[in-house]
Amino acid sequence: MKKRRMRTGGLLLLAAAVLTAGAALWRAGKAAPAAAYAPEQVRWIVDAGHGGEDGGAVSPSGVVESGINLEIARRVDGILGFYGEPALMLRTEDVSLHDPEAVSLREKKASDLHNRAETVSEYPEATLVSIHQNIFQQSRYHGTQVFYAPTGGSQELAQAIQSAVQTSLQPDNTRESKPIPETVYLMNHVPNRAVLVECGFLSNPEEERALQDPAYQTQLAAAVAAGCLNHAGE
Ligand SMILES: [Zn+2]
Repeated sequence: MKKRRMRTGGLLLLAAAVLTAGAALWRAGKAAPAAAYAPEQVRWIVDAGHGGEDGGAVSPSGVVESGINLEIARRVDGILGFYGEPALMLRTEDVSLHDPEAVSLREKKASDLHNRAETVSEYPEATLVSIHQNIFQQSRYHGTQVFYAPTGGSQELAQAIQSAVQTSLQPDNTRESKPIPETVYLMNHVPNRAVLVECGFLSNPEEERALQDPAYQTQLAAAVAAGCLNHAGE
């Protein structure tokens, strides 16, 4: 019990430090520059889900997932870079990463995911952190939930991120991290340690509002980064 309390305390301190540094970094409007790391140096790959024609989930009021994913992913990337952790992003703009040969939306989506998996696989030592937003038919559901790939170490990292979000940002969130469904292509086609963070529900009006707020995006990114950093240090 004592050990557990100490660990939680340490995590809280780290989350607070990351939140403070992250907020300062983003207030200053300075993201860490996109450094060109050697493949073996890259420790984190931050994936902003969807993009371009594939907007992902769309809220009842028309808010598109891909834009929020990018805002949060940029912040996660910036905060990890700020802490000296070499990270790279799979996309930094509102684009789909499909081959030029792909024509239909279905082909573009398949090509985009295939290309993401291929890039991630080129950095097998790096950890993939994929950023998404959730949606559900009923509006009452809210809160971050982290999913993990079947690869080694993924579950532990997912738990660390879930716990960092809960302790620093969502004290009432009782969700547990879960294995990723087999239908999620990217997470099942990479050899890397990999987690997918469903940051919140676009179908919940309150959370939909928060997810569009730059300050909340920074807090969320800082909590995700804290989970990553806390876990990386173990
Ligand atoms: Zn998504």
